[in-house]
Amino acid sequence: MTQLVWFRNDLRSLDNSALVQAARAGQVRGLFIATPGQWRLHQMAPVKMRLINNAVTQLSGHLAALGIPLDVVALDDFAAIPAFLARYCQEQGISALYANREYLVNELARDQAVAAALPIACHFSDDALLAPPGSVLTGQEQPYRVFTPFKKQLKAKLMAALPEVQPRLKGQSISQAPVPEFSDSAFDGQLADWPQDEEAALLAMRRFVTERVADYKAQRDFPALDITSRLSAALSIGLVSVRQCLWRLLHEHQDAVWDDASGPGTWLNELIWRDFYQHVVWHYPLVVKGRAFQADTDAIAWSYDEAAFKAWCEGRTGFPIVDAAMRQLVQTGWMHNRLRMIVASFLVKDLLIDWRLGEAFFMRHLIDGDFAANNGGWQWAASTGTDAAPYFRIFNPTEQGKRFDPDGRFIRSFLPELQGLDDKYLFEPQRYPGPLDYPKPLVDHKQARQKTLAMFKALKEG
Ligand code: FAD
Repeated sequence: MTQLVWFRNDLRSLDNSALVQAARAGQVRGLFIATPGQWRLHQMAPVKMRLINNAVTQLSGHLAALGIPLDVVALDDFAAIPAFLARYCQEQGISALYANREYLVNELARDQAVAAALPIACHFSDDALLAPPGSVLTGQEQPYRVFTPFKKQLKAKLMAALPEVQPRLKGQSISQAPVPEFSDSAFDGQLADWPQDEEAALLAMRRFVTERVADYKAQRDFPALDITSRLSAALSIGLVSVRQCLWRLLHEHQDAVWDDASGPGTWLNELIWRDFYQHVVWHYPLVVKGRAFQADTDAIAWSYDEAAFKAWCEGRTGFPIVDAAMRQLVQTGWMHNRLRMIVASFLVKDLLIDWRLGEAFFMRHLIDGDFAANNGGWQWAASTGTDAAPYFRIFNPTEQGKRFDPDGRFIRSFLPELQGLDDKYLFEPQRYPGPLDYPKPLVDHKQARQKTLAMFKALKEG
């Protein structure tokens, strides 16, 4: 009898819990179901869809080397999956289905519907995180609402027992049917710098951990330095597992678990943020339905000023660091973390625009778009979320530019119109006495800040 592995956000043959469990039970067949209609509904960026298509093609080759056939089909949405799987499993003589769990509302409902529709056993594994949702709780068995105690608790778990990396499978190679196209190849060009295959992702991760992580804490906030791992896209579709990252990190830097102040320790904390936000969406599914984590902040009368939002989207706000960052996003499908915080703060706290518009725009463009991390990041910036930045912490976009891009290298690389501008005008081009093909600032930051403070203060005082 054949075991079916249904691949989703785990597009790798190494350290894949579902795959290893299925292989222990017998002969394996793989399946990937593309659902472009559902993905569009979830605002998935076309570049991410393209990445998935290419990654599935690579996965097909890795599975072929292990003797595992992979079928790839395209259905429009999740609703079509249970009936399709029932038919497919019967035709292929499948005795059990294996898959790795996803923790969002629609994905959980999809898996429930599949389990109900199939007359065979369905085994779902926790594979995507350092610790599954529900396993990191307070002393009162409640979910954590802020990051730091969550991190402490998770680290204590890791120190007690590290999650194991799965053994490597062996097999006789076979030939594989070609993987069909289910996304727009126009985006191949944007993918050149990203790992699209598990081997490339592993190599990138190892290089980062051996060559760059030591400087991570000191340099990670400077977008021109390109010091961060750039593994977010690979992690978001499971080209590399977070366990592989953890083991390699600890192999090279044993102190990462207890030394928060080191580069490796700081990077581990970022991986734990990834877990944290996945736990949040699982414990508090309301955030998946467009609601603020802090319910009182849903009373804020956000702005929906279309012209201002358009200027932000197009990188025409008149604040160079904001504009360069937004152009990085639109042109490359990725944005540096410090910049994500700056542009999110600007949209919400300077323009007072609903954070949900920014959240959706990010998803429509990010190659690493991940609902939990994105929603968590936006709600943090908007002071509506779990670990929300206190409402009175409002980034000054001019000062952030001076501090984190001091020689203007990043700004100049995305704003050709400011390339020749003298350093002393670069962060405030409106002060340049001559003509300049660059917009005036969309708002007066000081005034906008006062308005936002007053609005939040009124809300908090009821
Ligand atoms: P590194 O600095 O090398 O970090 C390693 C990994 O840790 C990342 O690849 C990522 O998987 C994880 N990570 C790092 N920071 C965070 C964080 N704050 N929250 C959750 N996970 C984190 N990250 C996404 O993966 N997808 C998103 O859609 C996303 N949207 C964001 C939106 C906003 C407004 C903000 C402020 C942050 C967002 N982040 C998102 C988090 C972070 O910006 C990116 O993970 C990071 O920039 C990716 O670059 P890197 O791989 O070089 O990260």
